[in-house]
Amino acid sequence: MTKNEIVAGLRKLGLKKGDIVMVHSSLASLGRVTGGAQALLDAFLAVLGRDGTLVVPVFGKLGILTELVRQHPKSVVSVIPTGTVAALGKHARRICKDHWKADLVHEKDTPYVRIAEMGGYICLLGVDQDRNTSLHTAEAVLRLPYLKRTKEHTFDTPEGKVTKSWPFFPGPHRDFIGLDRAFRESGKMKVGRIGTAVARLIKSRDMLDIAVALGRRAPDFALCDNPNCADCVRQRADLNRARFRAEDATVAAATGLAGRYVPEMIENLQAAGIDAVELDIIQGQPVHALRPATLEKALAEFKEAGIAVTGLRSAAALDADSKMLDLAKACGIARLVVPLACRAAEVATSAAKQGLAVSFFNTALTTAQVGRVMRELEHAQPGARLTLSPAHFARLGEGPFSASTKARIRKYMDQLDIEDMTREGTPQALARGNAEIKELVSILRCAGFSGNFVLSTTNRFTGTLRDTAARFVGLLDTM
Ligand SMILES: [Zn+2]
Repeated sequence: MTKNEIVAGLRKLGLKKGDIVMVHSSLASLGRVTGGAQALLDAFLAVLGRDGTLVVPVFGKLGILTELVRQHPKSVVSVIPTGTVAALGKHARRICKDHWKADLVHEKDTPYVRIAEMGGYICLLGVDQDRNTSLHTAEAVLRLPYLKRTKEHTFDTPEGKVTKSWPFFPGPHRDFIGLDRAFRESGKMKVGRIGTAVARLIKSRDMLDIAVALGRRAPDFALCDNPNCADCVRQRADLNRARFRAEDATVAAATGLAGRYVPEMIENLQAAGIDAVELDIIQGQPVHALRPATLEKALAEFKEAGIAVTGLRSAAALDADSKMLDLAKACGIARLVVPLACRAAEVATSAAKQGLAVSFFNTALTTAQVGRVMRELEHAQPGARLTLSPAHFARLGEGPFSASTKARIRKYMDQLDIEDMTREGTPQALARGNAEIKELVSILRCAGFSGNFVLSTTNRFTGTLRDTAARFVGLLDTM
C-alpha cells in the first residue's frame, strides 16, 4: 500500500475535504504500507484538506497513528484523565475545548458529542465496533444503570489543579461488536476495503441515533449474553435491579427458587438484581422443619449481603400454638405467609398477640371461598392479609384474574406470587399458562400496589431464578 492508494480508498469510502472524522485504526491490518503510520496520517490529512479535522482516541491500547497525531506540533489534546482525544485540523480546538468540564466523559460538551453535532464521521479502519468509543455516548445518553462513577482524579487544567470524578462511566465489558449489523442494515454505514483492511464510515449522528434507539427498546443492547462473562452478568443485574426498584411493589424471590444453600442463593439473587427473599425452603428443607440455629445463620448471611426478608412461608397449615410463631419471633421475622385453612382466625389472633403479621395464601380454595373466609377474618383480625397464589386458582380451573375481581379479594392482598401454571397443574414459564399472571400484575400496578411480588418456588420447574427474573422483566416491559 502507498499513501496514494490509501487516499483513493478513503475517498471511495466517502471521506472528503473539510470533513471531521474520528479514526480508530490498526496499521497492521492494512497490510504492508510504504512509509508506515506516517503515510497513513498523511493520507488522512490529504483527504481532509486544510478545512478538515482528524480526531483519534488517546487511551487504552495506543495505535501508532494516535502517537503520531498526539506528537504532531499542531495537535490539540483534550484535557481529561480518561476518555482523552487528540485532534488535528481546523476544528481541533473547538472539539477538544474544556473536555474536563463536561458532566459526563462521553456526553454533551465533549469531543464525542461535538463531532456528532458538527456532522462528523466515525471511521473504523481494520478494527471492529469494539474499538468504537463513541458508542459509550449512547450508553451515557441513556443513563444506563450499570454505568458507574469513575474514581476521583486530580489533574492539571489550564485553570489550575482540579479534582473530579464523572458519573455514568462505562464498565469493563460490552458487546459493541454485536451492534455492527444494525449499522450495516440501516444503510447509513459504508463498508469497503483499503488494502487488506475492512473500512467502515458512518456519520456519528446517525450511529448515535441508531444505538440510542436500540437502547431505548432494550437497555442491555450493548451487553453480551455470555453467562460466563462476569462483567455483563453484573451489568445485567444492575439493569434488573433498577427495573425492579422502579416498581411500587417489592420484588422478591422465594429461597426455594434462589438455590439450595444460602451462599448460592445470594449469588443467584445478586445476579438477578433481586434484593429481597421469602424464606420457604432452605437446604432442601421446608423452613418449619429447620432448627432455629440454621435459620438464624441464614438470616445473618442475607443481612450481610443486603438482602431483605419479606417473610417466613410455611407450606403446612398452622395451629394457633404452632412453633412457627415462636421461630419467627425468635429470629426477628415480622411476617408469616401460611396456607389459608379453617383455623385462620385463631392463627391470625395468636400471631397478632405476638406482634407478627400474617398473610394467608390460597391452596385448595376457590376465589369465592377465599372471599368468604377473608371477609370473616376481617372482623376477627382486620390485619390479616392475603397472598394470592394464581397457580393454585388456575389448577382449580379458575381464571385467577377475572375470578379474583368477581370475588373482590384483591383488597386483602399484600402479596402476589409471580408464577404460572396450566389448568392441568403443569407449571409454566410466566405468561405461558392459565394463571393470568400478566393481567394480575398489570391491574395491581394500576392501583399502585405496594405489597410484594414474589417469584415463587413453582418457577424452578421451568427454569432458574435468573430465567424467571428475565422473564418477569420482559413481562413488565410489555405493559
Ligand atoms: Zn460481556
